[in-house]
Amino acid sequence: MKIKPTRSFQYLVLFITLIAVTYTPISPVLAAVPASSPPKTQSDHKIIFAKRLELFEKVSMVTGIPWSYLAAMDQYERSLRITKKLPASQGLIGIHISESDWAGALNPDQTDTNPTSISLFRGLGQDGSGDGFAQRDNDLDLLKTVSAFISTPGNREEDLQIRLWEYYHNSRSVQRIQQFARIYAVNKTLDLYQNSFPLPVSAVYSYRNTWGAKRGWGGLRIHEGTDLFAGYGVPVKSTCHGIVEIIGWNPFGGWRIGIRDLNNVYHYYAHLSGFNKPIKKGDIVKPGQIVGWVGSSGYGKPGTSGKFPPHLHYGLYRDTGLTEWSFNPYSYLNKWEREDYLRLKMKK
Ligand SMILES: [Zn+2]
Repeated sequence: MKIKPTRSFQYLVLFITLIAVTYTPISPVLAAVPASSPPKTQSDHKIIFAKRLELFEKVSMVTGIPWSYLAAMDQYERSLRITKKLPASQGLIGIHISESDWAGALNPDQTDTNPTSISLFRGLGQDGSGDGFAQRDNDLDLLKTVSAFISTPGNREEDLQIRLWEYYHNSRSVQRIQQFARIYAVNKTLDLYQNSFPLPVSAVYSYRNTWGAKRGWGGLRIHEGTDLFAGYGVPVKSTCHGIVEIIGWNPFGGWRIGIRDLNNVYHYYAHLSGFNKPIKKGDIVKPGQIVGWVGSSGYGKPGTSGKFPPHLHYGLYRDTGLTEWSFNPYSYLNKWEREDYLRLKMKK
């Protein structure tokens, strides 16, 4: 006779898993890496990505929240730390919860770590590491706290998104986390920060530092990007791992594509002659992947072309959580160009 596990048995298994996860030391390897100094070498990065992924997977196993969502929330907040000029996180996790949110706004002890009094004052802080304390700078406590907040029965994506909205009260934040979660789910790794030059370095092209210059064609805004002059049909490649946020016609940009990366940077490619057909909105792309071809489209109704010499307009925009601002891509282009040359040389 087949024995069906009873409900209480299932809970016992969950409980044991939770205890096992809670008491598993995060990493003896990482303990050797001083938390305060940022990792220097490629292999340090790889270790941190691997350890972080392990942490997300463990918490996901217990809470049922897809690890890609935990990773996305963590990475989204990490990117906000840069724009909000918050100090880098000391641990593996970059999620930031303010003192008053953690301890409860009316809690007289704003540095409270007692889970009972925190919950009494309706603070969010929870103990995930099982040491009896709810600490804002403890990775497991942080993950347990946000998981408890966003988790819903079944953890369907639609429900998680509603909970994320209730957490951030900002639809932009929800969209970003959704986008990051897709990038992680498709790539199945956190190690997604390689870059590529947007044109094949073997092609004939030229570009100068033109950011901030007065626009040559229409508009009073400053020139928010770098123009890379090349012939019609030269392939245009994604410069990053990311998700296609916008693709189609824009009166100024012509056939243009916008790709969002995990640093919450928006990469904008304009005046294309066409798109690499299979690519559509929501697709996950990787550095070097062809997204379209150089052209001279724009400054008119859909299909307008030839009002200026063919070139790729490449722009970078950083998301602050509320607005976006443009920054100069020139030095990044220089760096990616050098790296692509080196790769090309090594292949030969
Ligand atoms: Zn331009």
